[in-house]
Amino acid sequence: MDVKGKLDQGILSIESDNRIVFTVDLAGRFIFYTDGDATYRRSLENRFLRIKHVGSRRVVEQISEDDGRRIAETAYSFLRSAYDDLPQDLKDAASGFLDMNYEKLVIDSAKMREIYGGEVPIVPPDQYFPIYVQAETGCSWNRCTFCRLYRDRSYGVRSIDDFAEHIHRIKDFFGNGIAARKSVFVGDANAVNIDQKTLLQMLDMIRSEFNLPIFSFVDAITTQKRKSEIQFQEMRDHGLKRVYIGLESGDPGVLRIFNKLMNVSEAINLVNKIKGSGINVGIILMAGAGGKKYSKSHVENTASVISQMDLGKGDIIYISPMYEYEDTEYYGLTKDLGIMTAEEKEAQIQELRSRIREEFQDFNGRQLDAPIAPYDLMEAVY
Ligand code: SF4
Repeated sequence: MDVKGKLDQGILSIESDNRIVFTVDLAGRFIFYTDGDATYRRSLENRFLRIKHVGSRRVVEQISEDDGRRIAETAYSFLRSAYDDLPQDLKDAASGFLDMNYEKLVIDSAKMREIYGGEVPIVPPDQYFPIYVQAETGCSWNRCTFCRLYRDRSYGVRSIDDFAEHIHRIKDFFGNGIAARKSVFVGDANAVNIDQKTLLQMLDMIRSEFNLPIFSFVDAITTQKRKSEIQFQEMRDHGLKRVYIGLESGDPGVLRIFNKLMNVSEAINLVNKIKGSGINVGIILMAGAGGKKYSKSHVENTASVISQMDLGKGDIIYISPMYEYEDTEYYGLTKDLGIMTAEEKEAQIQELRSRIREEFQDFNGRQLDAPIAPYDLMEAVY
């Protein structure tokens, strides 16, 4: 077998001449495996996603535990069979985890869940590869009708001592694999709401332990009243680079149905305040929000709200199809709202993309200098 490999920024990649590529961190954790037909990604919680292209569509699916086991074993067998043909520096890097297998991945994920008191339910689309630190547990709002992320987790802020221990446990968990991580994400749902003095202390601890850029979620419901532009400037000075806001929609009717109790002008003010502080934002929208009933007003009002946000370089807008889960309050309303099909949601993503750009240009007299990226919520796993 003709084998190539590289070690770059803490990630070891091994590639064979028949289009197989296996990527691991330096503790041997499975990251990606490509067999020429599909790509598989493992989350730290040991969920395996299959990513395939069907025509022009990128299709992401979580595969079964058995299939995950099979893929992991195939990937590690490939690593072992390629090992003798690797250059010496890559052999040295891989020698410590040649015996890695699915069972060890299961043990690894159990350790991770112990650190976080359960699963990490979500990370933003471009942050599935950070070091996740949990400054607070759960969501202080926790009442959006479509959301089940933190339903079973009580809200609380870690004490400074507890946070220090938490960080050390995380470092210990990653071991050599920490070199593959490129940022720190501070969770859970709205960590910037933490009392300012404690938050800045936590940001300093993160910076001194990891020396990586820091990211976090902000909820648009409670943060506008709690944090000033000066306080955001302080967060920026303490390492916070970008915050992600789950706006979902700019339509007041949809937001009411979601029980996202905010006035859209408050969301606009919040984003402009954050931008004024020098921190970038990621705005997260959902295609299919409010179902068929709101399909027109969702697009129009979302485009109008986004156009009033002072967005530019370093910001990003993400749009995912909405998933309607049967065990949510929102699902009970969908009889009246009508659930959009996958194709209709896909079409709405394209509609939102063009309407946002048009509206932004009309309102500001300049182009929106930020990407609008489709993604799939399913991929936002840690
Ligand atoms: S604010 Fe975010 S995390 Fe909290 S309930 Fe609403 S959608 Fe869920």
